[in-house]
Amino acid sequence: MSRNNALERVETYFQGGEFFTDLAALVAFETESQNPDQAPILGQYLTDAMVPRLEALGFECVLHKNPDAGGGPILTGARIEDPSLPTILTYGHGDVVLAQTEQWREGLRPFELIEEGDRLYGRGTADNKVQHLINLAALESVLAVRGRLGFNVKFVIEMSEEIGSPGLAEFMEANKDRLKSDVLIASDGPRLQPDRATMFMGARGGISFDLTLDLREGAHHSGNWGGLLADPAIILSHAIASICNARGQIQIPAWRPTSLTDDIRAAINELPVNDGNDPKVDEDWGEESLTPNERVYGWNSFAILAMTSGVPEAPVNAIAAKARATCQLRYVVGTKPEDILPALRRHLDQHGFQQVQIEQHERAFFPATRLDPANPWVKYVEDSLTRTSGQKPHILPNLAGSLPNDCFADILGLPTVWVPHSYLGCSQHAPNEHVLKSVCQDSLRLMAGLFWDIGTGAP
Ligand SMILES: [Zn+2]
Repeated sequence: MSRNNALERVETYFQGGEFFTDLAALVAFETESQNPDQAPILGQYLTDAMVPRLEALGFECVLHKNPDAGGGPILTGARIEDPSLPTILTYGHGDVVLAQTEQWREGLRPFELIEEGDRLYGRGTADNKVQHLINLAALESVLAVRGRLGFNVKFVIEMSEEIGSPGLAEFMEANKDRLKSDVLIASDGPRLQPDRATMFMGARGGISFDLTLDLREGAHHSGNWGGLLADPAIILSHAIASICNARGQIQIPAWRPTSLTDDIRAAINELPVNDGNDPKVDEDWGEESLTPNERVYGWNSFAILAMTSGVPEAPVNAIAAKARATCQLRYVVGTKPEDILPALRRHLDQHGFQQVQIEQHERAFFPATRLDPANPWVKYVEDSLTRTSGQKPHILPNLAGSLPNDCFADILGLPTVWVPHSYLGCSQHAPNEHVLKSVCQDSLRLMAGLFWDIGTGAP
């Protein structure tokens, strides 16, 4: 039996409709981790969808209570063929963001997999259900063809990624032995271009916090008091303007990374420029001396996620008492995470904004990670993907988005290689989330090829 047989088998799985049926079954679990009412469904996804499938593959599964009361259950599985063989750890998350049911286009329903042309619509398709399904199906295919994998596999599936993976780091710390492996190979996030594989070896970090200015009790008539009372929205706007200039360039020295070396720059500049259909990249936005790819993969970005003062839906003639902006910094390796908020405090104080309060969001913090591109696993996965598809994958030093990759890279100490199975236009975290059938089909083959290869010898 050959590598080609494994690819053919996974191709049949896709073409014969089993893939669609399996994905539809996963999407039907309403696993919104941001919605406390759905808490029981989080466990059901693991016990009803994941455990039977993993056990059929020969995994020994253990369902764990999350060490953090705010987090959902965690499933681990291990399939040990021979302790002397290399062990691959893989990961997925079965939870999804809120459905936003009312905002989906007519004819679509978040928890029903709906096919339209090359698209399969459903909440959680791209993020992350299709991604772990593809990896499972690829393992199944290699096992069916070869009769064994030729390596050991461990699986972690969490149900709280969309609320910041509470308890995951603590769980990893407590289960280092159980999860001991040689490498993490997992899937989440988008490919840079739908028709070419992407690999990334880390992620930008992220931290969210509120800036609030609460000046007094209640609003006051803007005629009688206008000119007498300080306006919190105006002051907060100036505070924000001191953080970031009008083209989005960060003004706080400690928030500007030191890691954009010539090597990283060269790797980033090999990547295609995002010429995506929507939205168009604003060439005049962000750090002026950098290319757009350097800005998103090699630099930090500051954003206002939401901002209020008064009642925007029903403004009245009054000076508001309070203004609030929810802010976020996405940052790369080379930024000291523990100094992000202290540096902001110092900066605001120096600029006369002592009254502006900083409040870090609970669980809205991901450390940044980045594997050395010279790690042998990078080349190994690259060669395997190239062999299957006939073209070299795009290689990102780190994903622009955030992932709990620090759990694997820092706590478990593993080299981390991510092979994403979605694409940039997938509307993940938005209405009309979908995956492309063509990408899924390609990814099934790539992963079957990769798992086949690992069974013939790891680096
Ligand atoms: Zn997500």
